[in-house]
Amino acid sequence: MKNTFISLLCALHAFAVRLYAPASPHTIYISKDKIYQFINNNLLMNVINTNVLIIGAGVYGIGLANHLYGQKRSFVIAGKFMDLWRNHTFENMELRSDFSTSEITHPENRFSSDLFLRDHPEFEIYRNKHLPVIVYRAYLNWVENNLEYPVINDLIENLDFCTGNTSKKKFCAVLKINKNTMIYSNKVVIASGLSHHLFIPLELNQIPENVIHSYESRKIEKLGNIKVLVVGGGQSAAESIEVLIKKNNDVSWLSRHSTVYLEQPVNISTWLFSMIIKSSGLFYRCPSWLRKFIILLLSRPTIRPGFKPILEKVTKTDHVVKSSHMIYSKIISATGFKYKLDNYTFLSSKIKLSIKTAHNIPVLDKSFQSTLRGVYFTGGIAETRFGTALKFIIGSHYACKNIAKNLFD
Ligand SMILES: Cc1cc2nc3c(=O)[nH]c(=O)nc-3n(C[C@H](O)[C@H](O)[C@H](O)COP(=O)(O)OP(=O)(O)OC[C@H]3O[C@@H](n4cnc5c(N)ncnc54)[C@H](O)[C@@H]3O)c2cc1C
Repeated sequence: MKNTFISLLCALHAFAVRLYAPASPHTIYISKDKIYQFINNNLLMNVINTNVLIIGAGVYGIGLANHLYGQKRSFVIAGKFMDLWRNHTFENMELRSDFSTSEITHPENRFSSDLFLRDHPEFEIYRNKHLPVIVYRAYLNWVENNLEYPVINDLIENLDFCTGNTSKKKFCAVLKINKNTMIYSNKVVIASGLSHHLFIPLELNQIPENVIHSYESRKIEKLGNIKVLVVGGGQSAAESIEVLIKKNNDVSWLSRHSTVYLEQPVNISTWLFSMIIKSSGLFYRCPSWLRKFIILLLSRPTIRPGFKPILEKVTKTDHVVKSSHMIYSKIISATGFKYKLDNYTFLSSKIKLSIKTAHNIPVLDKSFQSTLRGVYFTGGIAETRFGTALKFIIGSHYACKNIAKNLFD
């Protein structure tokens, strides 16, 4: 339809030029490409106006969308639906959280494990257990099929202040694949998860093409029959090692810390962990020295005890990392994530400069709003303000309810 319209316009243009200036040496023919570009940029731009743009369709983005939908608010959500769980986790692994603490938040609890198990009794055996990733993916497919609003399956390529727009909205976003779509919004919630914050130590990254971050699980699953070094002392390192050994790789492991085997992801007792994890609101009110202390206490990685037999057999190395590139075909950097405002490639430098940070992490108020009014951050990047829960699915219940409640005050 669009192409026919453009071809028609080109033909009309050529006809008009011939009719009115048949022999003039000054006649300028405008190429079809130029007309196409002009029309795309000016006439066929798909414009979406909204009050709230949610960037990210993971646990946090979808949770917030559920709460805003419940309040009958206008919003637009863009991102790859549950990208972490569908594309960046190992198929044969289990979640560390149990089912009840891995539910997607909804104001009427429509995505509870109970409702899912009622629809899918074949998964009943997992009710009070750690879920295999494939069962969690089935749960997320069920969530997706029951969503009450559309999700734009695309990424935001650029978010900037609007200039000279007719809709008088504050922020303008352009999509990555569908570049012709411009989203005008008053408020933006950034819930874009981990993918922008992969941390690879400098000394490992001398030959970047040899290094794979553990987030790239699909790439790791494809490796077979080669010499691999896994660097890191947490659950991702353990999972990578198991996957690599199954595929006949010759695996060595470099971990700077002694290994702590525990069911929960941090090195404290289960009751204290579950208490801390449920108290994001309280954490916000703690003095900053106490917040720092708690985060430090909870930063030591642990590995599920089930991995002990495999890890005890793997070759441990203390190779100077510098020489590793000569010995190993691939290095897996299971070295976690470091949140920084600078990492968000889709934020314009003007927006970044307008946001006050502490150690390059946005300063947030009690409703997750940054110092740039109208821009909110949630998920792991809010950990320093709202506690360790924000690094996990369970933190989304507090965060999404809180943001949805305060977004329109
Ligand atoms: C290997 C691994 C295992 C984990 N296991 C557990 C567990 O068992 N239990 C637990 O509670 N937590 C676990 N976590 C923590 C996990 O990060 C959180 O639980 C949660 O999934 C994070 O949700 P999120 O919405 O912040 O991010 P994600 O789920 O990563 O979602 C991010 C969203 O942002 C989108 N996005 C990114 N960039 C853009 C852009 N430019 N424009 C638009 N959208 C964009 C993505 O497409 C995606 O939709 C695990 C993390 C990892 C890495």
